[in-house]
Amino acid sequence: AMFESLSKRLEGIFSNLSGQGKLTEDDVNAALREVRIALIEADVNLKVARQFVERVKQKAIGADVMGSLSPAQQVLSIVNEELIEVLGGTDDKNKLDLSGAPPNVIMLVGLQGAGKTTTAAKLANYLRKQGSRPLMVAADMYRPAAVKQLQTLGKQLTVPVYSEPMGANPVDICANSIAYAREQACNVVILDTAGRLNIDERMMNEIITIRNRIQPREVLLVADAMTGQEAVRVAQDFNQAVSLTGMILTKMDGDARGGAALSIRSVTGVPVKFMTVGEKMDALEPFYPDRLASRILGMGDVLSLIERAQETIDQEEAMKAQAKLQQGKFDLEDFLSAMRQLKRMGPLRQVMEMLPGMNKLMDMPEMEEALEGDQLKYVEAIILSMTRDERRNPDIINGSRRRRIARGSGTGVEEVNQLLKQFAEMRTMIRQVSSGKGPWAQMARQFGG
Ligand code: GDP
Repeated sequence: AMFESLSKRLEGIFSNLSGQGKLTEDDVNAALREVRIALIEADVNLKVARQFVERVKQKAIGADVMGSLSPAQQVLSIVNEELIEVLGGTDDKNKLDLSGAPPNVIMLVGLQGAGKTTTAAKLANYLRKQGSRPLMVAADMYRPAAVKQLQTLGKQLTVPVYSEPMGANPVDICANSIAYAREQACNVVILDTAGRLNIDERMMNEIITIRNRIQPREVLLVADAMTGQEAVRVAQDFNQAVSLTGMILTKMDGDARGGAALSIRSVTGVPVKFMTVGEKMDALEPFYPDRLASRILGMGDVLSLIERAQETIDQEEAMKAQAKLQQGKFDLEDFLSAMRQLKRMGPLRQVMEMLPGMNKLMDMPEMEEALEGDQLKYVEAIILSMTRDERRNPDIINGSRRRRIARGSGTGVEEVNQLLKQFAEMRTMIRQVSSGKGPWAQMARQFGG
């Protein structure tokens, strides 16, 4: 995943540092030198990396890190602050502005292949969930399939799409779409404008003409985070030509090193407002620098996880589960339901990466296998082959029952054993959390659980 190798490098640097107890200035300098190298290896712009380390150094000197109780933690906290800063800080500039008179127009621009058309649909989906009534406008007349693609996505999401026949003028299409939005009582208009393989003058001129004529509330560049510093250059060019109000970084689920995300704001001064993290229509998230920073530092992104859980988890089911947990009960039926809920939250790997401390776990080959293989299918098959009594009271599952369950589910005794072991571990964890004792309870408290 993105930031994975940077994250590992930084974790290594800081665990070294905290192993040292008292720190000298030389220790801190040496660690920061390594941080700079790690950033550059993550494809962060050279100047941004240098300034980053310089600011951390200044703050560390100011904070008198050397004299403090836990010097390494203090350095880590300064690095965290600076990461947040370099990703865009925490002010309202990072948020989408829809405060104009409706319909508010969001104009998407970007190179072909960056993900503009799919992002238009994801954004419409996101805004509708927030209570808006979006209209999508197919104004990319250069890529022949783009209009059709947007119409298909619109149908799938039941979001209206405004289009005109091939050969129509994109500027007119956009202008006409505003009147159509008023007619249809849509309060947000998303323009999917022309993309080209490379920046060329005709494309820029068309974008500028549309912008001048429509005066959109937002002009957002859709940029492919996988292309690293190339995305930063593209952003600079677009910003000079059309004055962007924001950016959307796509393909943040890919395994690029993360340099684009860490440089693009500092280099261009334009805030990143959203990122996309997959091909599914719900794979768009607001860009939160603070959450990303803690993810990069291996502190997990518990907030995003909770938010996603709230969106996907069936409230009624969750309440039932919670009531049972409070009584200290947790059986295999609950386990199956929990696994199904987890699955609904997205690829298991992505969910796991948001949990604190998971980076190290993810390296284990067993983990790899569990996440890549279709684990849930086995879990379902095995649990569904049990009798009701066995599910409610797993302790009765002895050797002969295990063999029967393995046969019934088309798996092996090995798999059944493993599942029961997993279940036992989860039950221990849950009992600790609900009784407030033990290491899992401690971890839950630490993260406000
Ligand atoms: P456009 O030419 O800019 O309109 O690009 P498209 O919207 O057609 O997207 C190009 C390709 O990138 C498609 O295959 C998308 O599914 C894919 N894509 C877009 N966003 C993401 C993302 O966040 N993650 C992944 N993995 N793929 C994406």
